[in-house]
Formats: sequence, structure tokens, C-alpha cells
Amino acid sequence: MRGAALSVEAMTESMFLNLPVQLPNKLINSLQNIPGFDEEAFRKAHESVEQVTSIRINPAKKFKIQKLQSKIPWSELGYYLDTRPSFTFDPLFHAGCYYVQEASSMFLEQAVKQIVDLSEPLKILDLSAAPGGKTTHIQSLISKNSLLVSNEVIRARANILKDNIIKWGCENVFVTNNDPADFSQLENYFDVVVVDAPCSGSGLFRKDADAIAEWSLNNVQLCSQRQQRILADVLPCLKKDGLLIYSTCSYSSEEDEDVVDWMTAELPLKNLRLAVEENWGVVEVKTPAQNHCYRFWPYMLKGEGFFSACFSKTEGGIQPAIKPKRNIEPASKKEMSIICNRIKDEGFQLLKFAETFYALPEKLVAELNLLQQYLRIIYCGVETGQVMKEKLVPAHALALSNLPNADVERTELNYEQAIQFLQKKELPITLFKKGWQIATHKNFGLGWVNALANRVNNYYPKELRILKDI
Ligand code: SAM
Repeated sequence: MRGAALSVEAMTESMFLNLPVQLPNKLINSLQNIPGFDEEAFRKAHESVEQVTSIRINPAKKFKIQKLQSKIPWSELGYYLDTRPSFTFDPLFHAGCYYVQEASSMFLEQAVKQIVDLSEPLKILDLSAAPGGKTTHIQSLISKNSLLVSNEVIRARANILKDNIIKWGCENVFVTNNDPADFSQLENYFDVVVVDAPCSGSGLFRKDADAIAEWSLNNVQLCSQRQQRILADVLPCLKKDGLLIYSTCSYSSEEDEDVVDWMTAELPLKNLRLAVEENWGVVEVKTPAQNHCYRFWPYMLKGEGFFSACFSKTEGGIQPAIKPKRNIEPASKKEMSIICNRIKDEGFQLLKFAETFYALPEKLVAELNLLQQYLRIIYCGVETGQVMKEKLVPAHALALSNLPNADVERTELNYEQAIQFLQKKELPITLFKKGWQIATHKNFGLGWVNALANRVNNYYPKELRILKDI
């Protein structure tokens, strides 16, 4: 990966042939009075074949950018890359060392850092979280004692979210698959709620030209109504004085400023202003109701179209004391001793669901017992594996996490071997030590191999394997 220095061997992708984008006239007409809109610059930005590529690094993996790359001004973890590499063929991408994310949307970091005390144990809900850009970002900002509930209503997308959470290797996230209204039962529960709303998507036209064909003024209206429904449904679960972050990747004021003014008129919310440095190129907008919002125009900064606004909740009592009706089964002493041979067990509890064990920070066990009564939790903590014949058959997630202890064998793979491993091909290697071992590349875990007397079995999950050949 030239320029990026994420992995020297990864290739530069050559398929990036952008065709100039045909913008809908109805969109252009509807943007004329919006602060910061410049039709000529807007059209030019959409005609340009230049791609802005950015990544956000995973501090939990202690991954460092080797070559000097330019920083994204509003995020300490975000970097622009000089070229767009083939992430598919970078083992460190699969090891969760970084997340490929559009730069403007990393602005969320400012809202969280400026308004919340991140040293506190917080309960955060990311309501529309798939594929996981904002969720992995939030996870990197919060303390270990905090809980992040990462939700996605569409089941197939919730599974992608879960895979990205596993790759990120974190312990304090619950992935849920619920409708926004399901959260209203958890009155005054969360300190922060993020609504990165489903929208008409005009802000991403440069990255996804197919979205243009689906764009219509009618869809903008439908999105606006849906956004209001989602916000009204989810608000009861936010505490009094809690932070609500609203964002879209739409340029349309019907989904942005109009929704913001509806929020402060109809819901118990007070708008919050953020400090934004002038040289960032972010446009601060004041709505007709004097609310402050932040707009990202692609010709004013290196990033795509994005909109964000922050609020604190002005009403709400204390959280009703709810006692879980049943607790999730903990591992038995024997199962604990088998699993704890392999993991750093301080501060974790092992819980059993359907014969599979999950390691969860002790402080989050009570939250899990409570939340499982109301929510469809599809993943939590770190899946550690199953106990069979008094041995741990380790789960993929364990290899991607920081939980395995020093007694777990590790096998370092060179670049070619790492790609073969990720393609779930047979590995032409001989290992002196037998048994389960973490396959690593540059010391970052990729998955498990099991070395037998005459071969090495590749346990990379079939559904995650790289399908292409280099
Ligand atoms: N936050 C994500 C990230 O940073 O990677 C992107 C979220 S995307 C803008 C909006 C998400 O809302 C999609 O994953 C979509 O499936 C979900 N969604 C669709 N309809 C929804 C609804 N009625 N309520 C809540 N979320 C919905």
C-alpha cells in the first residue's frame, strides 16, 4: 500500500474510474438558499474524479500509521490517504487495525468530546449503527467501563455491524437488532443517543453514483417524516441532560434544518453549540428557530456532504428501578478454569448462551441482564468459544480481541500466507507446536489455525473470506 504505509504489500486499486455525476436539477434548485451552497463549486466537486480516501485508526490495537499522512482536522484518530489502496488485500484491514470511513462523518468526535465527560462510565446508544463507522469511532473514545449499545433495525445489516464490532476487538459493546420504538421502554437510561438517520443520501453522490437514480423530492419528504418518527420514538430512553446527536448525509434542508427546528419545537430538547475552528471549512448554520447546526460541503473541505446538530434533553425523571426477571447463566467453575487458561480474566465474567461463552466486563453484566428483557441482543462482549471434551474450541472473535493471554500460541504469517489465510486456503506451512494458535500478521491477530500432526487447519470464517484473487 504505497503512500498509506498501512501494509507495504497491498496494491493500489485500479478500478477507481469515476464518471462525472449527473446531478438532479430538483436537488440543485432546492439547495439555492442554504448557507454555504455554491452551485458552481458544487457541480465542479461532483464532476471531479478526485477521490478523498480516509481511515480512522483503532487505538485498542495499538496500530500506528507508519508514514506521515495528513490528519483530519476534527478527529484525532482520522487520516487522509494519498492514494486509495486495495483494502481487501491488506491483512491489517481484516485485523481491525483501522476502519475506512468518510472524513466528514468523523465530526461526531467533536460533539462527544466537547459535550460529554468521557472519563465517566457512560451508557451510549448508537441507534442506526450499521455498518459501524460511528459505532467503532465512539467505542474508541469512551472508557472501558462505558457501555455502547450499537443497534441496527435491518437484520442483515445488523450482522455486518456485528462482524465489524468483532473485528474492532472491543469488549464493551452490545449489538442489538431493534426498532427505534423498542427503546422507549428503557426510560431515562442512556447518557448519549446518536441518531445517524437513514436519509436520501445526496451527500454521498460522489462515492455512490447509483444513489442519484433513487433520489427524488418525494423521497426527501418521506425521509424527513421517518427521521421525525425515529427521533420521537427513541427520545424517552435518553436521560434528562443527556446528549442527543443527530446527523444525516443529505444536503436537503427538509432532512436537516427543518428536522432540527421541529425537534426543538416539539420535543423536550435544547440545541447545543459546538466550537468549530474556522480553518476546518465546516459551515455553522443558524436555523430560522436560531438552532446551531454544522454543514459539510465537499468544495469547502476534504470530505463528503454531511450535516450534524446536538441537543440536550430538558425533561425526564430518574430511571425506574427495573429488576431483571432472569439472569444469563454464568460459566461453571470448571468451564471457567478451562477458558481462563486462555484469557486475561481480570474484571471479566464468562456467560453462557446456547453452549457458547462470552466474556463481558463485570460491570456490564447487570446491564446485560436488564437489557436482554427488552432488546434483541445479537452479540455482546467477546465471544470466546465452546467447551468440548474439557477443552476450549476458540471463537474467531477471541483472536481479534485483546483478551488472549500470553500462554496462547501465535503464528506469524508473512504477507502471502496472510492473504491465503484470509482466502481460507490451505496453508503450506509446518508448525512445530501443535494445537490452536492465533494466526497473526505484523503481530495483529487475524483468526485461528489448528496445527495437527500432518497439516494446519485454517479456521478463518467462511463467510468472511476474501473471494477475489490478487
Ligand atoms: N451510522 C452508520 C455508520 O456510521 O456506519 C450509518 C447509518 S446509515 C446513515 C442509516 C442506518 O439506518 C442504516 O443502517 C439503515 O439500515 C438504518 N435504518 C433504516 N430504517 C431505519 C429506521 N426506520 N429506524 C432506524 N434505523 C433505520
